[in-house]
Amino acid sequence: MTGPHPASPADRPAWDLRACYRRGELSPSEVVDGVLRRIEAVEPQVRAYLYLDADAARREAAQWDRAAGAEDAPPLAGVPVALKDNLCTRGVPTTAGSRVLAGFRPPYDATVVTRLRRAGAIVLGKTNCDEFAMGSSTENSAFGPTRNPWDPDRVPGGSSGGSAAAVAAGEATLALGSDTGGSIREPGAFCGVVGLKPTYGRVSRYGLIAFASSLDQIGPFARDVRDAALLLREIAGRDPADATSAGVEVPDYPALLTGRVAGLRLGVVREFLQDGLDPGVAGAVGEAIRALERSGARRVDVSLPHAPYALPAYYIVAPAEASSNLARYAGVLYGHRTTRAADLIGMYARTRDEGFGAEVKRRIMLGTYALSAGYYDAFYLRAQRVRELIRREFAQALESVDVLVGPVAPTPAFPLGERVEDPLEMYLADVFTVPLNLAGLPGVSVPCGFAGDLPVGLQIAGRAFDEATVLNTAYALERALPAPGRRPRVVTAAERRSSPA
Ligand code: GLN
Repeated sequence: MTGPHPASPADRPAWDLRACYRRGELSPSEVVDGVLRRIEAVEPQVRAYLYLDADAARREAAQWDRAAGAEDAPPLAGVPVALKDNLCTRGVPTTAGSRVLAGFRPPYDATVVTRLRRAGAIVLGKTNCDEFAMGSSTENSAFGPTRNPWDPDRVPGGSSGGSAAAVAAGEATLALGSDTGGSIREPGAFCGVVGLKPTYGRVSRYGLIAFASSLDQIGPFARDVRDAALLLREIAGRDPADATSAGVEVPDYPALLTGRVAGLRLGVVREFLQDGLDPGVAGAVGEAIRALERSGARRVDVSLPHAPYALPAYYIVAPAEASSNLARYAGVLYGHRTTRAADLIGMYARTRDEGFGAEVKRRIMLGTYALSAGYYDAFYLRAQRVRELIRREFAQALESVDVLVGPVAPTPAFPLGERVEDPLEMYLADVFTVPLNLAGLPGVSVPCGFAGDLPVGLQIAGRAFDEATVLNTAYALERALPAPGRRPRVVTAAERRSSPA
């Protein structure tokens, strides 16, 4: 952001759009036009979207032009949002980044989509992601990678890379993603936007294409903490259609942002600040912690000795659940079906062989192996035990501190192609994010500076259902740090055409 009033409506946060609508300074149609112009300019480079319906967005905007400024307008009236393509949208293509779902148009909206529409949001389209949300870079998408708006030769993170890049580049005001092991927080950090994984059960998963059901959560991407709070408030809450959604009261998150952290006990996780951390990341994270201390937070060094075991445990539990969840893609009810099979079993096998990409196949095999007779105890059961240890360890730590902080990822955005041949190297991007999924706890990634020219995120984790404290700590940091003063610099199509080859 260059200041509180950026030139294009495409760069304004949702809370500011609302204020502008109230004052009659802008209309939803002007905002949607601005965002669509931005998309036209940068999308050939960024490729955040898999599906965009500009006409529908314009129509919806026009419907809000008169009402969005009203005192009683719903909270997101006339605000353009983007949805990760693993969220079901009625009648609108939903692929989860996979060929196996080619041609699938869900007959229903995910609960979060219903809630967004009820809140007045305008759905622009569906964003790119790693196939079935398996990945940390969007390079596992069957439809090609998204590029990082800060540097087109680097990944935007993943798996919700399209949503993060869209918000960073002004191609959407807000976006939703899903986070099973870090897929909101890591792309948030890589793209310099706020990304929040809520507590497991805080947001309904109904209509989210399942990856690992005991870990998956839907959450917001936003340009600032206030917007993330606003979007969380609109999507959170009990849903009878998802038995794991919790009947815990949803606070008015934006109203709880005081920015006061005096006396807050800030747990700095020793295991997350080990050697091997990129020096630029370590520098920005250290500076962020000092900024929070200057604002009155009290630093408490915390050790979570089992945290390093989260990654191997996750890579048993998540593929195990995935291998079960993905059994349904057999070419029978929806999506791709092979045209080259002699019998039914052959049809299943060929459909799956043609429909799934390499990483998805790898996970199905890993998961099937971990669950098979004779290996179940050695792998799956042990991983579940580690998960329980981690859950307890985090809960205990959060009795003596209010939040836990550390880096989101060990490096900033890495170059496209760098890790595609090396799955283990790719998995390492998740080392600091997966523990919160295993423990079911909320965590936010909030921009906290730069490593060279690339944004860095601070991860702030909190107690179960205490997103309010997590968000308020992030808000305090946002106010304590100097405004970034730089924005992603996407080379537009027009600039490329006019530049000498
Ligand atoms: N990168 C992790 C994985 O590939 C996490 C993905 C996610 O959170 N959806 O499993």
